[in-house]
Amino acid sequence: MEIRVAGDARIDVLRNDDGYSRAVATVALAEGEVLAPFGARETLSTPNYLTVQTGPDTHILLSPEHLQYINHSCDPNVFFDTTRMEIIALRAITPGEEVQFFYPSTEWTMDRAFDCLCGSSACLGRIAGADQLDADALERYAFNQHILDRLAERLAEAA
Ligand SMILES: [Zn+2]
Repeated sequence: MEIRVAGDARIDVLRNDDGYSRAVATVALAEGEVLAPFGARETLSTPNYLTVQTGPDTHILLSPEHLQYINHSCDPNVFFDTTRMEIIALRAITPGEEVQFFYPSTEWTMDRAFDCLCGSSACLGRIAGADQLDADALERYAFNQHILDRLAERLAEAA
């Protein structure tokens, strides 16, 4: 069974007997609505498994801290917008639904690559950051400006 271990008025963090945690919405959201604003508890110059990348050399530890339990999915329903510093619904979300984002939308190179088990029919398998995505995946997902800038740089270097 799962117990609530953290959260706020709009998010519950649930933990199961295996110690696996996930974040679920407690409110309904329409596409484009803000689930939560976020900020930095601390800003680091290198990534770790908890950080969210906000610029070429900036990786933040999230505030409020419970937002770090928003897991990855290859079929995400929220987007961490690192320009607006808001978590935005990518589609309608119902109360009780897990909220998940696409890690490469913020991460250029991840500290810990992993084999995704999200179960989505569009699952990409190995997740290692935007740098490792193929053209098809780059076409399909939304990315933050610092990622788009890096992709543009890479194209310019290749030209
Ligand atoms: Zn996946």
